[in-house]
Amino acid sequence: MQIDLSGKTALVTASTSGIGFAIANGLARAGAAVVINGRSQDTVDKALAAIAADVPGAVLSGIAADLSDAAGAARLTDAVPKADILVNNAGIYGPKPFFRIDDDEWEHYFQTNVMSGVRLSRFYLPGMLDRNWGRIVFISSESALNIPAEMIHYGVTKTAQLAVAGGLAKLAAGSGVTVNSVLPGPTLSDGVRAMLKGSAEEAGISIEEAGADFVRTQRSTSILQRLATPEEVANLVIYTCSTQASATTGAALRVDGGVVNSIV
Ligand code: NAD
Repeated sequence: MQIDLSGKTALVTASTSGIGFAIANGLARAGAAVVINGRSQDTVDKALAAIAADVPGAVLSGIAADLSDAAGAARLTDAVPKADILVNNAGIYGPKPFFRIDDDEWEHYFQTNVMSGVRLSRFYLPGMLDRNWGRIVFISSESALNIPAEMIHYGVTKTAQLAVAGGLAKLAAGSGVTVNSVLPGPTLSDGVRAMLKGSAEEAGISIEEAGADFVRTQRSTSILQRLATPEEVANLVIYTCSTQASATTGAALRVDGGVVNSIV
């Protein structure tokens, strides 16, 4: 299968590193004009340079905007009036005891993980429907289905994303626009690397070994028994954005290494 997205503009949020960067890079390889987003111009510029080096001739642009509030989303939509493909990847996570998560932090998680995608879908979906072609992908998590006791606030926002995506898919019924969620399992992104650094140093092991320990002890149902790479996650997202994926909509697609013990 040859995925060709030339002529399409793809906006990938939070794409200066981690899973978002791998998705942006993969979409650029598939020929899409890609818009990168991160919180600072410096990280955006570095990501643009890295993709340009990897994909000669790629059509790239970048916008620094913090998507944890409406003003940041507006900065992005002002700069990028049209997108054929929207990947709502922006998301924060981290373990925290439930009893220490105050209202402000709950709100911050909801704004960053849920409202960022709501705001951008509200802006870009009408244009996709007018043109009768579009792809919206929410990067959720296996934590949407297996709510982790150590980060309940995160799990709640990831479940909420599934609800938004499912509703939007129905809203686009009968059109050439698909809306799906992709659910990664534990993935060795830059964020997870930072999360594992302390325990790896303490135990005198590599980050990869600490990752495998994490999967064995904290995600023991994993069939893969290791962290995925951002590229492995990105591959499913890129397929979901392809013209070939036209009959896949309203779906919650797992790339979780089998962590969620479910027959469907
Ligand atoms: P990461 O922390 O490695 O990625 C960081 C990126 O997010 C950077 O580009 C940073 O600039 C950007 N970012 C953070 N907050 C932002 C904000 N407010 N506005 C704009 N950009 C912002 O993240 P990751 O691990 O690659 O995760 C990406 C997505 O995948 C998230 O939605 C996460 O919930 C989901 N996910 C990750 C894993 C995993 O194990 N890594 C598993 C399941 C789901």
